[in-house]
Amino acid sequence: MSERTIRIYPDPVLREPNEEVTVFDEAFKEFVAEMKALMYAHDGLGLAAPQIGVSRRVAVVAHEGREYVLVNPKITASSGNQTDEEGCLSFPGLFEKVTRPDRITVEALDEEGNKRILEAAALLARAFAHEIDHLEGVLLIDKISPLRRTFAKKKFQRLREA
Ligand SMILES: [Zn+2]
Repeated sequence: MSERTIRIYPDPVLREPNEEVTVFDEAFKEFVAEMKALMYAHDGLGLAAPQIGVSRRVAVVAHEGREYVLVNPKITASSGNQTDEEGCLSFPGLFEKVTRPDRITVEALDEEGNKRILEAAALLARAFAHEIDHLEGVLLIDKISPLRRTFAKKKFQRLREA
């Protein structure tokens, strides 16, 4: 099993800039496999590299039996909106209502360096948007109102102390 662990807010690595991936070698493929294993071990819908302390533009998502690897991803189109409760492995126990686009198109590379265009709707669109936010240092609590954020931070601190 992996020696890496999930970084919990307010770990500063969650806010650091993330570098583009340029080398698609065996070590990188192993790293992506390790990310997937950690995501499944923690029952996550997705996981971004900074969440395990690696400042690289990589995320993985698993939804309805399919796995998605997003390397250097970019949202090229989005439409509509959806509001629903959202969680994050870096905020265990915290769930907040977040508004996201209902449909998005993402351009990304896979772990082999092949270009992929991914169309997503509903929960999968939410997951992609959430993980891509991580690669910009943007977190769940940044997507809610300042008032909700104050409550959410206090609630999360209480959860951590419990
Ligand atoms: Zn997250």
